[in-house]
This record gives sequence, C-alpha cells and structure tokens, in this order.
Amino acid sequence: MSLDNNPRKETPIGSAAVANEEDRRRVRLGNLTGQYQAIRAEIDSAYAEVMSRGAFILGPELKQLESEIAALCGVEHGIGVNSGTDALLISLLALGIGEGDEVITTPFTFFATAETISLTGARPVFADIDPATFTIDPTAVEAAVTSKTRAILPVHLYGQAADMDSLSAIAERNGLKVIEDAAQIIGGSYKGRPAGSLGDIAAFSFYPTKNLGAFGDGGMIVTDNAELAEQARLLRFHGSGGSYFYKRVGYCSRLDEMQAAFLRVKLRHLDEWNALRRSHAAIYSARLAASVVTSPVEAPGCKHIYHQYTIRSRHRDALKQHLAECGVDSGIYYPQALHLQEVYANLGYLPGSMPQAEAAAREVLSLPVYPELKSDDIEYVAARILDFQP
Ligand SMILES: *Cc1c(COP(=O)(O)O)cnc(C)c1O
Repeated sequence: MSLDNNPRKETPIGSAAVANEEDRRRVRLGNLTGQYQAIRAEIDSAYAEVMSRGAFILGPELKQLESEIAALCGVEHGIGVNSGTDALLISLLALGIGEGDEVITTPFTFFATAETISLTGARPVFADIDPATFTIDPTAVEAAVTSKTRAILPVHLYGQAADMDSLSAIAERNGLKVIEDAAQIIGGSYKGRPAGSLGDIAAFSFYPTKNLGAFGDGGMIVTDNAELAEQARLLRFHGSGGSYFYKRVGYCSRLDEMQAAFLRVKLRHLDEWNALRRSHAAIYSARLAASVVTSPVEAPGCKHIYHQYTIRSRHRDALKQHLAECGVDSGIYYPQALHLQEVYANLGYLPGSMPQAEAAAREVLSLPVYPELKSDDIEYVAARILDFQP
C-alpha cells in the first residue's frame, strides 16, 4: 500500500497531532537506491570499464560471470540470458520438452514457472504444496505422474529449497528430468549442496529485487551437463554458434556486458547480504514466536536465504491494512494460485483441487527483509504485528 493511502500524510509535520517519530516511520519492501549508494564506487568503476572497453554483447564480463555463478553452484556450465523467464524457457527447450509432454510443477509460484511450460507447447500439471514450506509436495507429484510426464519443475520458493531428495527419487523411478526454478534462491543450499546443482538444469533470475539483482533484466542457466549447456547456448543466440550458420531456431536472449559487470560487483556482496537477510529473519521469528501469526520454517538441511520472509495469518488482509496504517509495506506472493488463473481455465482445475496452495494464497504476507533494513525497523514491524487485534 502506498503512502497516499496513509491518512497521516495529511497531518502537517510539527503539528501537535504528530505524537512522535514512530508516527512518521515508513518501512518499505526494499531499498535499491540505498544498496547502490553503498557500493557506488565499485558499480561506477565497472560501468566506466565496460564503456571504455566497447564490447557490449557476449564479451569478457559475461564469460567471467558465467564461470563465477557456475562455481557458486558447484557446476560446470553457466549460460547468461535475458531474464529468469528465458532461463526457464530455454532450459525446457534444451531438454527437448514440447507438444504432447507434461511437466509437473507447483501452482504456488510466479506465473513464469508455468507460463514457460505452456510456451514450449507442453502442458503444466499442478501438484499441491507442503503447507509448512510452501514448496511442491512430493506425494502430490508422485500422484500426478502419467505416461506423458517428462519433467518435474520445482520452485525453491522464498529462498528455500524444495524437498529435492524425494523429488529426485521420483524422477529416477519414472525416468523424468528435473529443472530447478532457482529464481529466488541464489546462494542458498540443500543438505550442503548449492541450489542450482540439485537437478539436471537450473534457472536463475537477476530481476532487480531478487537477492542478486541487475539494474534491469537478466537471468542465467546452470548445468553440469555439457550437452544441455550447448543446446542452451545455441538457443540464446538464434540457434547459432556465433557465426552465420544456424543449427536450430532460437532466441535473441543474451545477458549484456553492462549487467554482467554490475552483477559481478554485486556477487562479491551476496554472501554478506544473504547473511543479513538470515539474521533479520531470525529476529522476526524470535519476536513473533508468541504472536498469532505463523512464522516461516527452515526445513532440516536447508539454508534458507529469505528472498521473502513470509508469515501466515487467517486475518491476512486486515493485518496488511493494519501494517499499512503504521507505515509498513508488505507483499502478497502470490494472491491467486496458478491452477485457478483465468489463463488456465482450459486445464480444468476446480477451486478446492489444490487446497494447500489455495489456503496459502489467502494467508501469506511477506514482510520487509532486505539486507539494508535497520534493526529498529525490524523491531518496529514485529511490534506492530504483536499489537494487531484481528
Ligand atoms: C522472478 C521469478 C521468475 C522470473 O524471472 P524474471 O527474471 O522476472 O523473468 C521465475 N520464477 C520465479 C519463482 C521468480 O520468482
């Protein structure tokens, strides 16, 4: 909710009606300008270097970033693309998924997860989530497997890995591929293994508000499989190896040098930023332990990187309103599960068919948890939740 909806805005500063500092406090969901200011010298020098080099597409910065992200994930290959959405689409196409195929995914995610399955010509098949972690429930996945199923596409939602051991076992038993939607988990891990190394291929997003965000759009595919990497490289560049000879129909989907250079600067700070998010989350969870809201859990073996710190409340809308009146922004990711979206009416899912995803869509609320958040702001947000009367 924006400041314009806050009635206190009308109160002139310094008037008797302004009780204290607390009354004017504003806590946003992110502070990208503040983050830039903190690393300005590094970003500005990266900019100057790219400008003076004069190479803007498929140059040395991208090559370096691709090896750095691959190394972070403990895999061999990184392929930079235009966006996280393209990273998903190209991963699916590299695996040969298309018309007549089914891909099992979660209904509780950003639309691009299912949209890219549809774009290949395949059919997204939804499997409900585990209400504790918000990630796809392996039991539901197993039940959704048919003779047409080609792959499972789990999402590491909010920065926490899905139950990958169970999903890999199902994939193994049924001869399926696993594509990780790793858009929200860069730097996170599962049982000591980095996200991005947990399936056959993985897609990251560098959307500005992600834990590692560009100053624009960007994404990356990572994989240990040389053949998939080669297909992904072809697909991002018109199906060509870079000369004017074409092996398949592809896309114009490259991560440009400027964004790659900026991302390389930010990558040096990622560990520290993820650690700050984790420590903010720990403070919230301690303060909210005695409250009526449900705090997020870190599943055993998972290193959650809190892309979002997401609580649940049966009075979610009233709580969001209360926070807005106190100057605290909050987000709903996501207000409608994908199986009930208008665009997927043709798939024939009915309300009630994915009860956990539908309940989550009604109850989730994400609180400010960005690295630059001040500790007194965290205390303020927690206190306003504690004094919420449904
Ligand atoms: C952000 C996101 C995407 C898409 O990434 P873009 O870079 O915005 O295209 C896909 N899946 C999930 C889960 C995301 O959060």
